[in-house]
Amino acid sequence: MKKHNNLGYNTKLIHAGNYPDPLTGALSTPIYQTSTFVFENAEQGAARFAGKESGYIYSRLGNPTAAQLEEKLAVLDGGEAAVFTSSGMGAISSAIWTLCEAGDHIVASDTLYGCTFAMLDHQARRFGIDVTFVKAKDIENVKQAMKDNTKLIYIETPANPTLDIINIEECAKIAHENGAKLMVDNTFMSPYGQRPLEFGADIVVYSATKYINGHGDVVAGVVIGAKEYINEVRMVGIKDVTGACPSPFDSWLTLRGLKTLGVRYDRHCDNAMEVAKYLEKHDMIEKINYPGLESFPQHELAKKQMKKFGAMISFELKGGLEAGRQLMNNVELCTLAVSLGDTETLIQHPASMTHAAVPEEDRLKAGITDGLVRLSIGLEDAEDIIADIEQALNKVKL
Ligand SMILES: *Cc1c(COP(=O)(O)O)cnc(C)c1O
Repeated sequence: MKKHNNLGYNTKLIHAGNYPDPLTGALSTPIYQTSTFVFENAEQGAARFAGKESGYIYSRLGNPTAAQLEEKLAVLDGGEAAVFTSSGMGAISSAIWTLCEAGDHIVASDTLYGCTFAMLDHQARRFGIDVTFVKAKDIENVKQAMKDNTKLIYIETPANPTLDIINIEECAKIAHENGAKLMVDNTFMSPYGQRPLEFGADIVVYSATKYINGHGDVVAGVVIGAKEYINEVRMVGIKDVTGACPSPFDSWLTLRGLKTLGVRYDRHCDNAMEVAKYLEKHDMIEKINYPGLESFPQHELAKKQMKKFGAMISFELKGGLEAGRQLMNNVELCTLAVSLGDTETLIQHPASMTHAAVPEEDRLKAGITDGLVRLSIGLEDAEDIIADIEQALNKVKL
């Protein structure tokens, strides 16, 4: 393994985990498009199954294209190991099913990715796991919710889509005082923008569909943490429970996308700051959430734990849902679509789209109002994004 400790972050993005192909010398990692691997003899097959010899067995358990990506991802988050999965939900479910069992309790933030909320609220309970949702931006609520059988604190910060910031260090402290673990979904920030392990988190999960791949052409995920736990996620969570193994081609596309994360994420954030400043001054905007604005209530905490302010913006127009609907129907450059972290600027309506699975009462309590609009700022020229929003706002008639 190459040593990466003294290298800058962009250098790590390019070089960590990348080796010329031992057979051909190919610089770009080959796509090992194979489901199975041939053993030299029966003894070798047995040794690999027993975990006594390293080497590949079957691509649900590991694949050389994914392995290079996994090494890179572990280095980038400062974790011991990583396992790449076929989707973000595949990562989150494999991580949780590996850690928790019937009788355990989870404390989760109440503002989560819609499907994660659905999994914890509907599915985990079916299997005897108790879940308490709390407004985790007030750390006292997390403390109060802890029980003797709490195995896990689960958070997303900034929260989706309100962008509330949750104090990672405080959550880690509470988890560890109670013998629990802290798992952070860091999808919105990417490892370039925030590294939860540095603040004491135990496990980081991502939808790699978003900034990590960054080009809107792959659905994938990753779990990062201690070596022993990641091995269990691979050999139990993925192998026996979810089966959420990635394809070699998606592993390769993600490896390719990840190399440019630094230049992409800087540009995403610079564009987002310009759009946020424009919206903040606009008289049709009732409320804007962007951690980079000085007016953002948790701007100081954002500065402390985030390396960048991200490229997700949510806002409420005067005129609520109807105004938001007209805005979304009148944009021409911005694309009306869910997902985030793509090269294109995407606009969507959480209450009827990404968070439709959240019951209305819970949704409103979490701050996801009917009129909230979410923007994922892309890599276009900021002037063009702003001009498009402006022409669409001019068409809103109430
Ligand atoms: C998209 C997303 C997920 C789910 O990831 P998939 O790759 O779509 O399965 C989880 N968490 C967050 C914050 C997301 O944005």
